[in-house]
Formats: sequence, C-alpha cells, structure tokens
Amino acid sequence: MWISEVFNSVQGEGRYTGVPSSFVRTSGCNLRCWFCDTPYTSWKPEGFEQSSESLLLEIESFGNEHVVITGGEPLLVPEMIPFTNELRQRGHFITFETAGTIVREVQADLMSISPKLSNSTPQGTAWAERHEARRHRPEVIRKLIQNYSYQLKFVIDQTIDLEGVENWLLEFPKIEEENIFLMPQGIEWDQLSEKMEWISEAAATRGWNVSPRKHIELFGNTRGT
Ligand code: SF4
Repeated sequence: MWISEVFNSVQGEGRYTGVPSSFVRTSGCNLRCWFCDTPYTSWKPEGFEQSSESLLLEIESFGNEHVVITGGEPLLVPEMIPFTNELRQRGHFITFETAGTIVREVQADLMSISPKLSNSTPQGTAWAERHEARRHRPEVIRKLIQNYSYQLKFVIDQTIDLEGVENWLLEFPKIEEENIFLMPQGIEWDQLSEKMEWISEAAATRGWNVSPRKHIELFGNTRGT
C-alpha cells in the first residue's frame, strides 16, 4: 500500500474524540479540496510502499484497540479489504475517514464520512472541473450509510456553508441528527476557536453536533499527530 504516515495519537474529530488510536494514512486522493489539511496526500502526494504485514506489526506495537484509516482517500486502496479483515480478526475497532465517493467492501465499525460540498471546489485551478464532477456521489453515500455505522462531518468555513449542509441533507431524509457533525475549517487554533463559536450555535439550533479538531488544539498542525 502507498502510505503517507503511520502514528500513535488520539482521535481528534467526531464521536470518538480523545480515544487513543493508531493511525494509518494512505497517500493519494481522487479529490482536491482547496482547504485540504493533508496536501501531502492529495495536491502533492508523497509516500512509501509498506506491506500489510509491516503495518500490522507497527499497529500492534502501539497497543491501541482503535485503528483509524485515513488519507488521502483510503477507500481507493484495494488492499484495504484483506487488511481490514485481518484487523477485525485481531479485535480492533476500525474507523475509516472518507469523503464518501467510493464504495469498497472493507470491514469498518465506523464509516466517518466527510461529504465535500461546493465550498470545497478549488476554483480557478486545473482541478476544479474534475473535483466538481467527483465530489458528490449520492448512490455511494446511500450504500455507506446503509451498510455501516456512520457519522457525517461537514467542514464549515462561512455561514453560507450551513445552507449547503441543509440542502445536502434534503437528499438523504433517513439521516439522523445524532450522526451529523459540523467542523470548523482551519489549521490554526485561534482560527478554529473563533469559528467554533458561531458553528456551535448553528448546530445547537438544528439538533446537530459539533466536532473539534482536538489534534490541532493539542499538537498544532503537525504531521504524525
Ligand atoms: S478529500 Fe480529504 S484528502 Fe482529499 S483533497 Fe479533500 S480534504 Fe484532502
């Protein structure tokens, strides 16, 4: 598998925020969000080949029950099927962090989907058209939420983005409010906390949740955390 990084940390976002977790980050993405906080897996993908056996050894050395598989877009990787079968056999709790544009029959205890709205499109770049064509796959979202326990994390940059979330949800009336999280866009702590104030209010009035970016609060925008 083409891997960007493997590390031991705590989950920084969503329902399991704060849970000690082993992270496997694949390199390569089919999208190009302008705000991507891991450009070394998307805009300028970097990585190294690492076998499943070697990844499993590294994960076991961390000693965490929870394993978070992220990217990039980890569902691009076919080897994730046997890899997650092995993680499941070893009793791990598996979370996938995905943009929800690809289906693959992996094992997952939580499908953590971050749908990319029109506010993610890198306007004025060579990627704008491809990104726009790929970012919304309703049939994929339906399969993922039907087949897995899931959460939805929406990246919010401006107040207008709240309307984007509401419109997106109209297409999926079965989604329960408890599975919806709003997450501020940003990679600096002061930027995030300022947005968190109005995002929290907006989420509360709609019965949704907010997701911190705990890893940025704890470690800053640092790779391998
Ligand atoms: S989907 Fe995720 S990894 Fe891919 S470009 Fe967007 S933010 Fe970056």
